[in-house]
Amino acid sequence: DSYGHGTGDQLIRGVAAGLDVLIPQGAVLARIGGDEFAIAFLSDGENAAALQLAEQILDFLVEPLEIGRRVVVVGASIGIAMSPAGTIGREELVRRSDLAMYKAKEAGRARMTLYDPSMDADREQRNALELDLRMAIESGDLTLAYQPLIDAASYAPTGVEALVRWNRPGHGPISPEVFIPIAETSGLIESLGLFVLRKACETAKQWPELNVSVNVSPGQFRNPAFADYVRYVLKQTEVEAGRITLEITEGYMIQNPQRTRQSIERLKALGVKVALDDFGSGFSSIGYLRQFGFDRIKIDRSLVMGVNEDKRQREMLQATVALARSLDIPVTAEGIETEEQAIAMRLFGCDCLQGYLFGKPMTADLITEMLHA
Ligand code: C2E
Ligand code: CA
Ligand code: CA
Ligand code: CA
Repeated sequence: DSYGHGTGDQLIRGVAAGLDVLIPQGAVLARIGGDEFAIAFLSDGENAAALQLAEQILDFLVEPLEIGRRVVVVGASIGIAMSPAGTIGREELVRRSDLAMYKAKEAGRARMTLYDPSMDADREQRNALELDLRMAIESGDLTLAYQPLIDAASYAPTGVEALVRWNRPGHGPISPEVFIPIAETSGLIESLGLFVLRKACETAKQWPELNVSVNVSPGQFRNPAFADYVRYVLKQTEVEAGRITLEITEGYMIQNPQRTRQSIERLKALGVKVALDDFGSGFSSIGYLRQFGFDRIKIDRSLVMGVNEDKRQREMLQATVALARSLDIPVTAEGIETEEQAIAMRLFGCDCLQGYLFGKPMTADLITEMLHA
């Protein structure tokens, strides 16, 4: 949304509020929006100069800022492109720095990335994948797999978690770890999420004895109308709200505690349950969690794996479960692969277990078979 041209030792103000940086001769610094910056060198750019400029911006933006009564740490994503001996045109340079910026953004906060040609191939592949995903959602080519959730005392199935599956034509199955983030950034997550929710609710009717968990992305949860969607789907599919659990991860929650609390309240008013997914993989603080009113906490697989590891990992795991339990919220352990893990998690106080030991994600028909076995 704003940019500055370097004319040697000129000091540019206003590229970002309060940001004073020296833009070297022959460089363009553009603020693409928010925390996104691109640096293009129109003439013989020197790596050193570009990196120095990027570092100045990062230094400035990564400082904690006081905004009103809140202290926030903003990040910045910076893409850099060079034109060796001025061989690359201005438009192409801007395109390259923009592309590099997106790579920096993907890598996380406060990153700078130098353009390299492999980024073009990546981008093309990604665009193709996005197009195929859009078609798959539109034509209903996604499917759901269901993984059993097991009562820790009786080892009887108490529920299932719905997990989306995509068999991409000509490519085979693509992991949701790959296509969910793409759906998130390309505006497809809402229609994907709606498909999953509707399908899971429809299928839930086949299993009156089971609770059905559905994963919800931040991109869905962020929508103020999300609770309305959920109400609509519940009504349409005539499923009992109390049998549906929505699983959300903590990332969004930490950035928007206020709105998260409101959304959870609205969902719970509909009668659905809300679970915190992947607990222990991020930054959850306990005092913080209490106020959200989660019905269940799921301990992340990465921690559960630690039970077979050294003493420190085991203690970490035990402390995390204790933390969750101190809130008086039931706790599920996910990713259980061995009997040893199951016994330990049960001992630590998990009332529900999930993992390959009890069943991999499977078709709805196999779940039905399992129930009648
Ligand atoms: P998640 O919600 O944490 O789901 C659990 C993941 O762990 C699933 O991977 C499941 O297959 C896998 N898993 C379960 N037990 C075991 C085990 O014992 N060992 C190992 N190695 N893995 C186990 P999956 O289906 O590939 O899904 C990955 C992630 O993608 C999910 O993590 C979730 O974040 C996301 N996802 C999947 N389906 C959906 C969906 O319908 N909507 C949204 N928004 N996200 C989804
Ligand atoms: Ca989950
Ligand atoms: Ca999880
Ligand atoms: Ca996970």
